[in-house]
Order: sequence, then C-alpha cells, then structure tokens
Amino acid sequence: MTIYTGPVFDMARTQFEATADHLEIPLDDRKRLLYPKRAISVSIPVHMDDGLTEVFQGYRVQHHLTLGPTKGGTRFSPTLDVGEVAALAVWMSWKCALAGLPYGGAKGGVACNPSSLSRRELEAISRRYMQEMIPFVSPQTDVMAPDMGTNEQVMAWFMDTYSMHQGHAVSEIVTGKPVALGGTEGRREATGRGVSFLVNEACKVVGIQPSKATAIIQGFGNVGSISAYTLARRYGMRVVGVSDHTAAYYDPAGLPLDGIEQHVARHGVLASWSNEAVIDPAILLEQPCDVLVPAATEQVITGANAGRLRCRVLAEGANGPTTPEADTVLSGRGDVFVIPDILCNAGGVIVSYFEWVQDLQRLFWTESEVNDRLERLLLQAFNLVTRRSDGDRVSMRMAAMAIGVGRLRAGKQMRGLFP
Ligand code: NAD
Repeated sequence: MTIYTGPVFDMARTQFEATADHLEIPLDDRKRLLYPKRAISVSIPVHMDDGLTEVFQGYRVQHHLTLGPTKGGTRFSPTLDVGEVAALAVWMSWKCALAGLPYGGAKGGVACNPSSLSRRELEAISRRYMQEMIPFVSPQTDVMAPDMGTNEQVMAWFMDTYSMHQGHAVSEIVTGKPVALGGTEGRREATGRGVSFLVNEACKVVGIQPSKATAIIQGFGNVGSISAYTLARRYGMRVVGVSDHTAAYYDPAGLPLDGIEQHVARHGVLASWSNEAVIDPAILLEQPCDVLVPAATEQVITGANAGRLRCRVLAEGANGPTTPEADTVLSGRGDVFVIPDILCNAGGVIVSYFEWVQDLQRLFWTESEVNDRLERLLLQAFNLVTRRSDGDRVSMRMAAMAIGVGRLRAGKQMRGLFP
C-alpha cells in the first residue's frame, strides 16, 4: 500500500510487473524502476466569481530524472487523484524511452471541472498551480504540457507566471504553447496526426486498405477530433462513429465530419449535433469497424467488453484505455492488432520535445520539418515494437513496454546508485 494505490496506478503496476517478469528483472531492482522519484501535492486557494474562496487540490508526479528532465501533461479533471497522476507519469517514462527522447515521465493536474469554471477562475487556478510548482520545475528538471482539460491558453498562463518570477521570458518551461509565444508548428495536431500515421502502418500489417476502411473514435477533444479528421481526410477512411462525454453518434454509411467540425467549433461539444445517428455511448465501442480509436480516458476497454469489440485495429489514442484483464481477452482472441498507448499517442510528446529543443536553440522549424521528423521517429518506434513483438512472441504492448523499461533500466545501471 502506497499513496498511489488505486485502480489506475494498480493497472500501471500490473503492466510493469508483467514486463519485469518477461525481462527477468530481479525483484530488488523493480521498485526503483516503478515508484516515482517525487510527488508534490498542493492546495490552490482561488477567489471564485460568487465571492467565496474555494480550495482545489493540485498534484505533480515526477517519475524519474535518470535520462534528463521529466516531461508530461497537466490534467484538469474533477476526479483526479495522485494515483492516477502517478500512473500517467509512469506511462510517460516508458513512452519517452521507447521514442528515444532524453526525458523521464511526469504528469500533473488539478482536481477541478474546467467546464464549470469561468475564464477568470480557470486563469486563477492555472496561475496559482504554476506558482506553487515553481520550486520543483525548470526547463532542466520538469517541463509541463497540456492534457485533458487544459490547452494552449493554460500553457500560456503557466509560461507567463513562471517567466514573471524569473524576470525574463522562459518559453522552454512548457510545451503546447501558442506558436506566438514560442510554441511549435504542428504541436496541436501532433498526437492525432501520429495516431493516424500509425493506424495507416498497422493497416499495412493486417492487410486493410485504409481508403476502404471504417473507423470509430471515442473522445472528440484534441486527440480524438484530429485523429478523426486525419484518418478521413489524409487516409480516406470512413468515420462511422464518434463520441464525447455529452453524446455518441453512429452511422454505418459514414458521418459528415465537416458538419460535426462546424458544430463542435460553435458549441464545444457533440451534444445536439443530430437527433438521428444517436447511439448509447456504452455500445459505440462494440459496433463493427476496422479501426477503433479510444481517445478519451482510462479503463474503457475492460474484461467485460473486450470480447465484444468488432475492430481489426485498436489504436490507443488515450492513455491507459485498456485494462490488463481486457489485454488478456484480446491476446486470447488474437484477431485485434493493438497499437499500445505508449506508442500510439507518442506523437504529442515527440513534438513537445521538438518544441523544447527549438525554444532552447531559439531556432524554429517549418511545419513540414516538424511533421517529417515526427513520422520518422514514429516509424522507427513502430518497426522496433513490431519486430520485438514477433521476435519475443509477445503482445505489442509487452514489446513496447519491454523496450521502454529496458532502456530506463540500462540508463540506471550505467549511472549507478548515488551515493
Ligand atoms: P481533451 O480534453 O482535449 O478531450 C477529451 C475528450 O474526451 C473530450 O471530447 C471529452 O468530452 C471526451 N470524454 C471524456 N470522458 C469521456 C467518456 N467517458 N466517453 C466519451 N468521451 C469522453 O483531451 P485530449 O488532450 O484529447 O486527451 C485525450 C486522451 O489522450 C487522454 O487520455 C490524454 O492523456 C491522451 N493524450 C493526450 C495528448 C495530447 O497531446 N493532448 C498526448 C498523449 C495522450
């Protein structure tokens, strides 16, 4: 039992233990690889618009600093707790190591409901959160980014708050900033673009022609919406299902993405787009499709529904969408090609890394340079994972984890134990 114990961290721990067994890592080496270096918990007092003072709980977990600064997103969500943040930090570590980035993993966030806050309240929470984190972050120790419930504007407030304390502009303290503040071209689209690029690679492996394939996407925020648009517009896929936390739609003939895009731009959510193609969100994931992209939240594919999925490719845009019980079911079935989260959504942190490098050098790249480099790194990681999966006769998730955990372990062994 630790402060992290809970359903999401237990899932990350179970995945890690299975990988450690596969790699035959001695028991006394495991805790050092799994448990975070630091967990910071802060209270964030804010004057609300109704004149009352509210106190929100904020967290930042830094998993390890063996290979460079930690790197990871910031989640604003009402149910956030330190166990979920720690699991997300651990997954970030394996993801960065798999992609060959010089980072450890981190994650942070505030337990709040951003959709019920005014813009002024959101700014106050964002600024006070960064203010409380100043002793623990820097461009050399921990670099934040957006995640669920945060966006470019929140990153701009983080950057401004940190910079005011340093007395000069420090753009490299966060990634996912607006381009005008030192953000990079292509960051906003990077995760969804990467998901779609890898889906296309997976289609080659399983023998599907993307222009004849169908896709269902759960979650219509940054990752889900860009994945949907890119799968349809770049690869010619027919998107037959989409959902967010307000509505779910399914039409086997294909959904009109242009109309949905306009609706979401105006209203922010999918609700009330149409009365016709509405479907129960719980069964959307079980509808027939070639490609299923969970791009919302954790633990949506479970031991209960994994047997009923009717996709050929499962592309994990979200972090931790598939439970270990579901993994067992999917491995037993053998007919679903899984692109595991730490590979599938790595486009976000890869382009965040490009942003940090550009900020440190004060030298900016074009969008096509960013995208070319992104696709090169993703393809390299995809090929490594498929080769390892074939060679070790293990699942794609186990192969991806084995590469990430193995690289971190090698780094720790080379550096030794201080003092
Ligand atoms: P976001 O806040 O932009 O969007 C989240 C979306 O999920 C919203 O449309 C929301 O309505 C929907 N949603 C929430 N709960 C849902 C539910 N139960 N059913 C259906 N839809 C639901 O967040 P995002 O940045 O797109 O992140 C989505 C996922 O991708 C998260 O797991 C995040 O950790 C992961 N991720 C994001 C990035 C990134 O660059 N933004 C990078 C890597 C991984």
